Amino acid sequence: MVRVPRYKHDCDACVYLGEYAPPRCQERYKVAELDLYFCPGDNATVIARYGSEGGDYSSGLVFAMNALKRGEYDQPLYEAFCRAQQLGLDVLNNVTVEYAFGR
Ligand SMILES: [Zn+2]
Repeated sequence: MVRVPRYKHDCDACVYLGEYAPPRCQERYKVAELDLYFCPGDNATVIARYGSEGGDYSSGLVFAMNALKRGEYDQPLYEAFCRAQQLGLDVLNNVTVEYAFGR
């Protein structure tokens, strides 16, 4: 099923991972749903977008790893990380993640 991102995104390399509405999404992010992305490359990362303006997003695999360590399984960047992994995307090809895992 092809889904269309809710917000405008400015990176052609990114893989759209679908929308995500974590608990208390409106309260936390001031929107009903987020758009999740995986951006491939040497500095592969995950992105959670909450608006169409250039800066309306958060990103960083390290935040996904921190959420995992804290048991915050509804954290959007952790959700994006899980979806990317399920799709077989090369999400662990990133030195930040290797660092986070203590390798
Ligand atoms: Zn990208």
